[in-house]
Amino acid sequence: MGRIHVLDPHVVNQIAAGEVVERPASVVRELIDNALDAGARRIHVDVADGGLTRLEVADDGHGMDAADLARVFLPHATSKIRTPEDLLHIGTLGFRGEALASVGAVARVTVTSAERAGPDGSAAPGHRVVDAFGDIGPVEPAAASPGTVVVAEELFRHVPARRKFLRTPATELGHVRDVVHRFAAAFPDVAFRLRADGRTLLEAPSGEGRRARLARHIDDDVARALLEVHEDDGLIRLEAWIGPPSTTRRDGRYELTWLGGRHVRDRTVAHAVREAYRDLLPPGGARPVAFVFLDAPAEVVDVNVHPQKSEVRWRDAGAVHRLVRRALRRVLEQAQPGVPVTFTAERAARVAEHVASAFVFGPRAPSYAPSSTGVARRGPSDATPLPPLDPRRLDASGPTSRPPARADDDAAAAAPRTPVEGLRPIGQALGLYLVLEADDAIVLVDQHALHERVLFDRINARLREKGGLEVQRLLVPKVVHPGPAGAARLLDEAAWLATLGWDIGPFGDDAIAVHGVPAVLKRPDPEAALAEVLELLEAGRRDGLDRAALLSEAVDRLACRSAVMAGDRLDAEEVLALLAQAEALDHAHSCPHGRPTRLTLKRADLERWFHRTV
Ligand code: ADP
Ligand code: MG
Repeated sequence: MGRIHVLDPHVVNQIAAGEVVERPASVVRELIDNALDAGARRIHVDVADGGLTRLEVADDGHGMDAADLARVFLPHATSKIRTPEDLLHIGTLGFRGEALASVGAVARVTVTSAERAGPDGSAAPGHRVVDAFGDIGPVEPAAASPGTVVVAEELFRHVPARRKFLRTPATELGHVRDVVHRFAAAFPDVAFRLRADGRTLLEAPSGEGRRARLARHIDDDVARALLEVHEDDGLIRLEAWIGPPSTTRRDGRYELTWLGGRHVRDRTVAHAVREAYRDLLPPGGARPVAFVFLDAPAEVVDVNVHPQKSEVRWRDAGAVHRLVRRALRRVLEQAQPGVPVTFTAERAARVAEHVASAFVFGPRAPSYAPSSTGVARRGPSDATPLPPLDPRRLDASGPTSRPPARADDDAAAAAPRTPVEGLRPIGQALGLYLVLEADDAIVLVDQHALHERVLFDRINARLREKGGLEVQRLLVPKVVHPGPAGAARLLDEAAWLATLGWDIGPFGDDAIAVHGVPAVLKRPDPEAALAEVLELLEAGRRDGLDRAALLSEAVDRLACRSAVMAGDRLDAEEVLALLAQAEALDHAHSCPHGRPTRLTLKRADLERWFHRTV
């Protein structure tokens, strides 16, 4: 007696159904796929009990004749592909010929359909076929208007394992609603309607446009604020609707990606979106609003990697990452001229122009003195003592109130507003906050966050101008032990690490010798810093980061490591030097992670607080 036998089709279909049909919402998704593939201009979805007892999807697409209906429930029966080559040019949402067979295996499914008879739109004779939990009935004549109606009842009735995982009807309805809304957002030219237990939850006419469609999904004021992004690199087409940084959400519910009209979960795109918003969002896990619609030909992306087609595989994830990040970032920067612009030549040039060349903190404070523009500069005038209080300039935030530039300050004519004169360092509180007094305010500065911001920009400027960071050579090489794999990985990246100021070489099988460290590192701890680099390289590989994104992350961490820490004591001169450097940047109000760097307590507010005002 042999042990092996071939499974009967009932069982095969049930297994297949397990992959495709997870819950009512997945049935709705497959049926809407089919309706769109049939060229529907109008799709109506009706559910009862969240789709658990009954769900229906009706369309006005091209419909099917009796012969097609006889095959509609057969596994691997499809009208959409024929040859293996067709898999390389999939132009439809479905193609595996599995959906209806799978749903029919786990529910009682009725398909009623009629083709369009003539140009007047009248219906050809209609037919109907039923698949009750795997038992396919005969095709019978039935009354039908042009198009197709699919009804699925008693989903998972005979699949207790699956039933167990279903939630309440309300939760299942929520998922159905998400599915319909996502299709509606992706296909604004198709009319969608969703009804649940007799209530209309969505009624979206065709042709109302993307913004209006999104507004049906999110708050009106959020939809109104959305910025539109368009990009096309010849292969990949992107259309995105993204919230300005002031519009954030607690979770990622409004961070969605579509590919070819299908909602997908894609880490490359998700990461690129986060990168675009990098240092723009407030701290505390705020998430952006970003709807990204991509279209890409089959040579660029494989959609045949996931049973529900909700994940895809990019040929060149780096290219996708770049495209998305750059396109979104550009629009964000244009929309809000105040946002920090990383990696642009103009910005690097401005920083280089205005910031004193030394930025080492610690015992050797940089030679600093405020010039008339308040920007740290080297020169004879550096002998000036701590700046005097100048009440007239304190609220002088606009360029008009800036004092006339000296002859040698021409280059600094574009110097940013709010020079540091008029700010008097009082001291440091709680080992972390610099306390400064102005004429009409007390200013608290987070020294670490501010320094990190300054360094982040300086490092980027240096990379941009010189192509690499300065190396601090070690008299005696330091040996670090990242393990065999880690050592190999770091040595593979030796050239890249050299741009970041690392000089490393092999040392045995599982160790490397560090001959030089990035000069900006305040307390060189090669072991820890390189462990961080390794971790970053790992994360980069996992998330498909490109080199630019990796570099940006590396600079971020380097800046953090090099910045003065909480607990570091700074003297008055160091404080002012730090502020002067910060003021030369436009956006010193937040650190690279988006945390604010300073808090201003205005005299007026203090007076109100202490009831001094009458
Ligand atoms: P697939 O979509 O992968 O081809 P399905 O099992 O979803 O597989 O559908 C099988 C076939 O039934 C489709 O290829 C299509 O020809 C036909 N079909 C299904 N739904 C519809 C519909 N709403 N309108 C017209 N034809 C349909
Ligand atoms: Mg299908």
